[in-house]
Amino acid sequence: MKRRILISNDDGIYSPGVSALAKIASRFGEVRIVAPDVEQSSMSHAITSSRPLRYKRIRLGDFEAYRVNGTPADCVALGAHRWGHVDLVLSGINLGLNLGNSCWHSGTLAAAKQAALLGLRGIAISAPVSDSREPNFAELEPYVSKVIDLLLAEEKMSLVNVNLPEKPKGIRWTRQSVRQYDGKVVPGKDPMGRPIFWFTVTPLEGAEEGTDRWAVEHNWVSITPLRLDLTDEKDLARALSLAQTPPVSPAKKG
Ligand code: MN
Repeated sequence: MKRRILISNDDGIYSPGVSALAKIASRFGEVRIVAPDVEQSSMSHAITSSRPLRYKRIRLGDFEAYRVNGTPADCVALGAHRWGHVDLVLSGINLGLNLGNSCWHSGTLAAAKQAALLGLRGIAISAPVSDSREPNFAELEPYVSKVIDLLLAEEKMSLVNVNLPEKPKGIRWTRQSVRQYDGKVVPGKDPMGRPIFWFTVTPLEGAEEGTDRWAVEHNWVSITPLRLDLTDEKDLARALSLAQTPPVSPAKKG
């Protein structure tokens, strides 16, 4: 059976990034697009649980595509459910990088994460936008293709975050940069003079060598294998070794 590749994103189904990715992915298998009907950037791993979802067939080039009035995670869950069997989920190509701490906010990465949660493989792919210019997908295409080819062979990697620089010079394996960043809040006023606030995501420090941020700053395509288990092993080991700490027991009524 031909490999089944489900494509989603968080920029919405009409983003040029989704058709660019579908075109590249179609070399590797049968492609189906299931993506949000409107932009869902920075929605992270939200799911829609308080209302029903709709799954509507649309025309998107030569691809079988469905738009969903939900989040990226919804789209992957629903897409996999409707298709039955899925081998790989690709998310993107996002218009904007998802590096370092922005992974926590990323809807692009959440779509890949949903795949991993379902026991499938998920790859998130992001590219930079400068001065509101769309990425040059034709230039990035050989690198995206190479990355998919490379990751298909890495069968044990269930969740991967890929970021491309504007003009790649090669591909690097990286770790996530977790340096502190500034969720900077910029105050302003609306046309009625009422206070409003803009949220920005600005790193406070330069990126360490070998990290995703560092790689993209140096024009490498960054591939970061991720995992779902967020447990801090060091803290857990330390806590477990503190023998004098009694286990918490419920208070006795007396
Ligand atoms: Mn986005």
